[in-house]
Amino acid sequence: MSTKDLGSSLKEWAKIWPDGIIAVDHQHKIVDVSETGLNLLQAGKNDLLEKSLHHVLCVNIRNLQHSEEDCPFNGAGNYSNTDVISAVWNKMNGEYIGVDYRIIHFPEDPTIKYILTFIDNRDLDYNRAELDKFAAYINNSPNPIAEFDREGYLIFSNEAMQEHLVSFGFSDEGQARILPVDFQQICRQCVEQKKTISSVEVNVLGRWFSWYFQPVVIQDEITILGYAINISEQKRAQEEARLARERSRRDFYAKMMHELRTPLNAIVGFADVLLWRASKNLSEKDLRLLKTIKNSGLQLNDQISDTLDISKIEAGKMTVELEQFDLQELLSEIDEQMRTLAANKGLIYEFICPGNLDIVTDKRKLRQILLNLISNGVKYTQEGNVTCIVEPIIEKRSIEFRIEDTGIGIAEDQLSGLFQSYQRIKDEKNKGILGTGLGLALVEELVRLLRGTIHVESVYGEGSQFIVTLPSKPLE
Ligand code: ADP
Repeated sequence: MSTKDLGSSLKEWAKIWPDGIIAVDHQHKIVDVSETGLNLLQAGKNDLLEKSLHHVLCVNIRNLQHSEEDCPFNGAGNYSNTDVISAVWNKMNGEYIGVDYRIIHFPEDPTIKYILTFIDNRDLDYNRAELDKFAAYINNSPNPIAEFDREGYLIFSNEAMQEHLVSFGFSDEGQARILPVDFQQICRQCVEQKKTISSVEVNVLGRWFSWYFQPVVIQDEITILGYAINISEQKRAQEEARLARERSRRDFYAKMMHELRTPLNAIVGFADVLLWRASKNLSEKDLRLLKTIKNSGLQLNDQISDTLDISKIEAGKMTVELEQFDLQELLSEIDEQMRTLAANKGLIYEFICPGNLDIVTDKRKLRQILLNLISNGVKYTQEGNVTCIVEPIIEKRSIEFRIEDTGIGIAEDQLSGLFQSYQRIKDEKNKGILGTGLGLALVEELVRLLRGTIHVESVYGEGSQFIVTLPSKPLE
């Protein structure tokens, strides 16, 4: 039988066939439609002939339509004659029709590429206005809504989602910035475990979104629906509440520390008076006990001062008072105190500083930094010396302070957490050396405040160098 005969017989069958039939040419244009087909689609022949299948039949509700490239008719070759496909098509009276259709291929026919046979699959009396309304809900939602296939590729996005995508130039990279970092894993969980995944927070250019991903089965195919809510306001309120809590905790802490100071001064003061007045009448043991009371009081006082200073810096309340002064002068001021401290342990302290070396910085804070680092050097050195070397670095318009010791040193794996508050190294060599772990944390904050840097070099068992670099003048 020739193709021509087949074509004409088809026409005869089509008249009596209960399914609608549409014949389509190689350009996916409608060549012919059976009577039943016209009835089902509420169309006259002229509405359909010569028209593209995609443009006539595929539903486009408020632009929520697949593109022509993604149109199932374009991929008609992928379907076999026995596949039944469900879809919603346009009727020509403005309503929609739910259909089950098959694609019957005519591989050898020069005019007809395939025919579609279709039936009204449900009693789907779709009302265009109703569907338009639901589509509008999705499209006009201020929250991003999107549909992804099982691999995580975007199938559909509403306007809010598109707005985000456009701001990143619609690239894959942009999509990755809107979606959670572990999006591929989320898709796998949704598909494999049929699990809804909620409250996944993502920051998009300073705005916070909480995503909700839900697997949905449509015509045996699983897709993933994603909804995002803008939670920036909520986040801001949470952050404000956290800061307020932090502030009140800090205020309480600071008040308590101040309160502790009065009785502490009394303890240290009266221990001093007793030492002075009664030392001759006391036994060696009692004298030692009294000295311990005084020294512990002084240590607690230092600890309180460091804590108050750190809180003040963290609260942004520590001000910097700049003045110009000669560094030799400052180092000479602290020299006696440090020499005595070192000599008490049989150590030698010295400083090396060129004369007439001026700096413009906060003198009180620089003194605090140096005292902390030098006294640490003394504290963690059993024999040898502690040296403070000051050198200008002309090309960087800065001054370097190197505090070197021949002490216990610091193991390399301990260096990273050294400047954290209350961080003390647990080591055999440290045993019995008292401290709070606040000194270096305070030093780091003070150096930062003076726009400088600090770093440490150390050889375990041999000694350490703490190197502070400060601008010789603050930047304009
Ligand atoms: P503290 O000395 O009160 O414990 P710091 O914050 O000053 O607190 O120091 C933190 C830790 O760093 C110390 O516990 C000590 O283990 C180590 N450390 C600081 N300075 C030196 C140093 N010069 N030599 C060896 N270890 C040091």
